[in-house]
Amino acid sequence: MSAHAGLPSTRWSLRGLTDEGDEAWLIRSIGHKLYRCPACHGEIEIGTEHTVVQYVLRLGGTEHHHWHRQCAEELLVPDLRDVKRVPASQSSQSKLEARGRKPSGRRR
Ligand SMILES: [Zn+2]
Repeated sequence: MSAHAGLPSTRWSLRGLTDEGDEAWLIRSIGHKLYRCPACHGEIEIGTEHTVVQYVLRLGGTEHHHWHRQCAEELLVPDLRDVKRVPASQSSQSKLEARGRKPSGRRR
């Protein structure tokens, strides 16, 4: 079992780096519409807990995808470097979008 099993949660998000040097933030969410998981192509039903993967790109900008929690934990997190848990309050959509407006060298 990984050190981050059970995360993200309501209190904690996860942040790691992709091979390309983009930040990947994993955030717990409840779906308000039907999503399709990019890993298994299965549906994520409305109202179910799942994981939003928000990328903050090295060159600026953001993009996000909705994953099954288990798919993200098994297929995405093992491919990320320097995975750390961060308070969920730091991973709001508005904060990450603001972060994406700065090149990676000028982020804290
Ligand atoms: Zn899936």
